[in-house]
Amino acid sequence: MNHKSVTSKIYKTKSFIDKKEQFRHENFCEAIIDKETWDQAQFLLGQRSVIHPRSSNGNKLHRYAGILKCAECGANLTARTRHWKGSTYVQYSCNTSHRYGKEYCTPHTIREDMLDALLKDEMKSWYKHIISEGKRYEHIVKEWQRKKPVYDKKIQENEQKIEKTNEDIENLIMERLNDLGRKELYDKMINKKQKEVKELNRKNKELKQYNLVCKKRQEELDNFAEFLKEILAQDTISDISMRMVVNKILVHQNEDKTLDIKFEMNGKLGDNKEIEIPD
Ligand SMILES: [Zn+2]
Repeated sequence: MNHKSVTSKIYKTKSFIDKKEQFRHENFCEAIIDKETWDQAQFLLGQRSVIHPRSSNGNKLHRYAGILKCAECGANLTARTRHWKGSTYVQYSCNTSHRYGKEYCTPHTIREDMLDALLKDEMKSWYKHIISEGKRYEHIVKEWQRKKPVYDKKIQENEQKIEKTNEDIENLIMERLNDLGRKELYDKMINKKQKEVKELNRKNKELKQYNLVCKKRQEELDNFAEFLKEILAQDTISDISMRMVVNKILVHQNEDKTLDIKFEMNGKLGDNKEIEIPD
């Protein structure tokens, strides 16, 4: 039998956004998992479910069916049961290679038990990552609370500015009426002031939202860490639990026939957007 070594690589996606942009980014504290999926997960975990996903024709689906993809040609890796020296195991290979031959794609063959072992390692490292993220958010919330008086003052200042600018706008409208020959100039000035008001309102909305949003994010991280902890406590990760967490697994075959396995998480977990407290 052709022995292949398997290496697991974790590719972390990091988005590099300008510091100001980071804070401006509306979804910087998006939910990791949407509410519906989360509730479903809680239900299934509560049931200690042993349900296996099935295909549309009612046949049992193989554990990694549909989520295991060839990184080279994009095809699914399809499962086959092998019998060898009295033991039975499942292995997956690139569908293109299997159906059309090795001149179209390399086999990308990987055994299911190997994927299981890699998955467990991967989940452990996600767990660690989430715990440290949770701590980071805790720190951010604390830092925010420390700075809160400064921000409250800033909000108040902005509100005063808004009031003042609105008065200016009213005055400009009156002046425009008395000086219609220079209407365009007044229009320009009014437009500029209106933009200023809009910007100040937006800033204040963000300043007020920040604390709430970060606390929510921290809570989600804690919940998800708890969820992963429960999964990891089980001897084998159930199909349902695995599919809750894993969106896609990409298999890349190197020239030396080793494989790189890339796990993609569901939801926003892979999204390590930095958040910063605004100045
Ligand atoms: Zn392929």
